Amino acid sequence: MTSKLLWMSFVLVAITSSITFSLQPDRQKVLLVSFDGFRWDYLYRVPTPHFHYIMKYGVHVKQVNNIFITKTYPNHYTLITGLFAESHGIVANEMFDPILNKSFSLDHMNVYDSEFWDEAMPIWITNQKAGHTTGAAMWPGADVQIHKSFPSYYMPYNESISFEDRVAKIIEWFTLKEPINLGLLYWEDPDDMGHHLGPDSPLMEPVISDIDSKLGYLIDMLKKAKLWNVVNLIITSDHGMTQCSEDRIIELDLYLDKDLYTLIDQSPVAAILPREGKFEEVYEALVHAHPNLTVYKKEEIPERWHYKYNSRIQPIIAVADEGWYILRNKSDDFLLGNHGYDNAFAEMHPIFLAHGPAFRKNFTKEVMNSTDLYPLLCHLLNITAPPHNGSLRNVQDLLSSATLRAVSYTQSTTVFRDTSKSREYEQGQPYAYFLGISLGSIIVIVFFVISIKHLIRSQIPAFSDMQSEIAQPLLQA
Ligand SMILES: [Zn+2]
Repeated sequence: MTSKLLWMSFVLVAITSSITFSLQPDRQKVLLVSFDGFRWDYLYRVPTPHFHYIMKYGVHVKQVNNIFITKTYPNHYTLITGLFAESHGIVANEMFDPILNKSFSLDHMNVYDSEFWDEAMPIWITNQKAGHTTGAAMWPGADVQIHKSFPSYYMPYNESISFEDRVAKIIEWFTLKEPINLGLLYWEDPDDMGHHLGPDSPLMEPVISDIDSKLGYLIDMLKKAKLWNVVNLIITSDHGMTQCSEDRIIELDLYLDKDLYTLIDQSPVAAILPREGKFEEVYEALVHAHPNLTVYKKEEIPERWHYKYNSRIQPIIAVADEGWYILRNKSDDFLLGNHGYDNAFAEMHPIFLAHGPAFRKNFTKEVMNSTDLYPLLCHLLNITAPPHNGSLRNVQDLLSSATLRAVSYTQSTTVFRDTSKSREYEQGQPYAYFLGISLGSIIVIVFFVISIKHLIRSQIPAFSDMQSEIAQPLLQA
């Protein structure tokens, strides 16, 4: 009876400890992968068996609402900060900051000025402050010094480095003696080819197949390194792509004297900085210029875009209808595919799939916001999220029941820069998790102590018998 009780208490301790251990979010590892410009419906355009393998054994979100403008740098910074562009400060691929009196240009790789990035805190900084390590393979911004810091491990951006070499680095970092808990992996396609071919081109089909093969390679490498069931793999992208045409070009020079303004960003959201004293003249010239161009004074920009309260957003923006292209004139570069349009358009939407111990299996969700990824990442990495525009609540149903049990929330408010309104934000806080762990531990300890006391009491007569039994041979000797 007593040995049964002792055995049961040991089993209980073992089970409780293993549940506690498996629930610890800080034991989760995450690999976030972005295939630039992978539109949500490319999954169905050609056979994509590796993407569908992840959907079958993991989770898939059908509609991901990304942020305006639907460009690469703004959306990649959102994925790792949970903030809208007006709050994280990377409002476009081409920017001018009138306070810093500095320009930022992706075309000229003039993106290494920390001051453009310092308005937000990328997840690797928060992760590293919590004592973890991060590895970033070409993730946009990961080789820029932000808040005087870099990821623990990173590859300086070089587009000629192959996908295989980037994967090798990620595997190396996840298998170090002190492994990273967060990996970030970026690949330039299908964006590059989407721009050049146009997404409607049949030549996009082998491009999408090639991305699927690359994902297959990544899965194989994770399996070979015995990481496949250990790492939570999240596959996403920044935006989609829409077909453009030389029949749908809006030439600004036809409506506006080029000496009246500076064109900071071009298409499909023209960021216009009028010369001093020329604001009304520029606005009046453009506002009714073209039926497929909508012109906003900065203060009139629709709230739903969250694209107003930042000095890098220019006094006038002119937004092209989907598939329309803004040029100064036809001597400017034109691409057959483009993105950057209203984030309400389905063709601007990216993908979201995930697989791993934290995620449910064969689960499809209808919709999420790209800002929701950030609190999800923070929850998995067990780090406290700074204020952000996402919601863990929106995406908690992606998590397996064990991981979900560790989710708790506190509500708070914060005031964002340049914003008179206070906004709610939500953070995954580990309070309930620690409370649960503490209570569980107390119950186990109390149960264990009672069991030991019971055991000692029940063993007292046996002890005296045993002592005399032991004493007997000694005496005889
Ligand atoms: Zn992109």
